[in-house]
Amino acid sequence: MNSDVVVIGAGIAGYAAALRLRRAGAGVTLVTKGMGGLALSPGTIDVLGRLGGAAGPAGPGAGGEAERAARRAITHPYAAIAAADLLPEGHPYRVIGREATAAGVDRFAALVGSDLLTARPDGAAEDAGTGQGGSAANSGEGPANLWLPTALGAVRPTLLVQPSMQASVLHDGGRYLVVGLARLKDFTADMVAGNLGRAELPGGGRVQARAITVDFEARAGESDTNAVGHARALDHPDGIDRLARLLDGRVRDGETVLLPAVLGLNRPGVFRELADRLGAPVGEIPLVPPSVPGLRLEHWLDRLASAERVRVVMGARVVDSRIEGGRLVSVTSAAAGRPREHRADAFILAAGGFESGALTMDSHGQVTDTVLGLPLAGVSADGQENLRRLIHHDYWGAPQGLFRVGVAVDAQMRPLGPDGAPVLAGVHAAGGVLAGAVRWSEKSGEGIALGSAEAAAAAVVAELG
Ligand SMILES: Cc1cc2nc3c(=O)[nH]c(=O)nc-3n(C[C@H](O)[C@H](O)[C@H](O)COP(=O)(O)OP(=O)(O)OC[C@H]3O[C@@H](n4cnc5c(N)ncnc54)[C@H](O)[C@@H]3O)c2cc1C
Repeated sequence: MNSDVVVIGAGIAGYAAALRLRRAGAGVTLVTKGMGGLALSPGTIDVLGRLGGAAGPAGPGAGGEAERAARRAITHPYAAIAAADLLPEGHPYRVIGREATAAGVDRFAALVGSDLLTARPDGAAEDAGTGQGGSAANSGEGPANLWLPTALGAVRPTLLVQPSMQASVLHDGGRYLVVGLARLKDFTADMVAGNLGRAELPGGGRVQARAITVDFEARAGESDTNAVGHARALDHPDGIDRLARLLDGRVRDGETVLLPAVLGLNRPGVFRELADRLGAPVGEIPLVPPSVPGLRLEHWLDRLASAERVRVVMGARVVDSRIEGGRLVSVTSAAAGRPREHRADAFILAAGGFESGALTMDSHGQVTDTVLGLPLAGVSADGQENLRRLIHHDYWGAPQGLFRVGVAVDAQMRPLGPDGAPVLAGVHAAGGVLAGAVRWSEKSGEGIALGSAEAAAAAVVAELG
């Protein structure tokens, strides 16, 4: 492939699309305002964990118990994606499909490697990809969701975990020692163990958990050190040795040791070294942002992009675009005070959603794609109507309708207009900018990002050869 592609955005979707296209031979420029959401994420790959609790026209009281009860846990995400009728109307998985999602997730796991993600290929998609039965693409259940503890001791579904979290995957009858680090204030071992002990695993199992807290000094003389500071201390053999000594003799037979996710920022094998010292399995529990496992992925992708000669233009917000004959031919970024035009044969819009500022809603209810000005599904031209329909003030109730707003796409990830036809040639969209999902509640963010990046990149390759 001898073409130039510009990818807008450096989140998981942007990196995945850029690397996929680079490996297909394209010259790739990644233009981004800043870092994406990976460093804020738990560093797991969530594909689909829950459905229901639909966002939509809502008002105070529209949420509540009935709404929450309607949410159902998904045990096999790929099977649920294949059974498209389970998904709400307009959900991005309806057009991305199982095959592209599994291919995108598998490709990403291979990209980052087994030190950072434990791959669990979808056999059905593999068979289809190797030509051993395309009809198999939607068959079989595929790998099941895993259940991980959160930093509050709740239980959440995810599909792929980092090897350092493998021992944290909860199973019926498991016995866990939750270890708090006194100088890390983001993690309270007593609360985590208490909540885990009360939790019922989806499928009905239970675990036993008890807590201890040890005084690990991550930085000399500091009484309050954040997760990254702890992780840097544990990158060194001396840090591991000091922590192992504090835990010596405290672990009972048959227990798995659960620690906050600070077991090394740059050396992903720290958890194994600690497990060897303790003679017990050791697992990490992801924390609130900034997240060490998220940063591990972010750093790795950044290094990989540079090794594979993706031209990354950081601090460059796309502020303008040029369209010729109905086709996007260039975008302009504002970097270091001067505008810069980036021409390309194709563009991938991977600029995220409201959280990254790619989509905005103003106080008059006007909702906008700030990057390319594409039409957005689920919004009205009447701002007052948007304010009424898309936002409610029952914050613990149903998800806000606004969460589902975004760019509607077809199976090639081409942005669609209100009439369902592609609106702008030369552009494919991927990730958080897509309409139709409530990612944080469905636990679908990474799966949608990787599946749509795969589909968008494949469409560009097919189009430009
Ligand atoms: C509070 C919260 C909790 C969440 N929890 C979960 C969860 O538990 N599970 C889950 O699966 N998902 C969750 N999500 C969703 C998940 O974070 C997103 O789906 C995912 O980050 C989307 O990745 P992305 O690559 O599309 O976009 P992002 O990671 O948002 O990256 C967007 C990129 O585009 C860049 N950009 C934006 N505008 C411009 C511009 N004009 N010019 C150039 N670059 C631009 C940004 O700087 C950034 O690099 C959560 C989201 C939020 C906000």
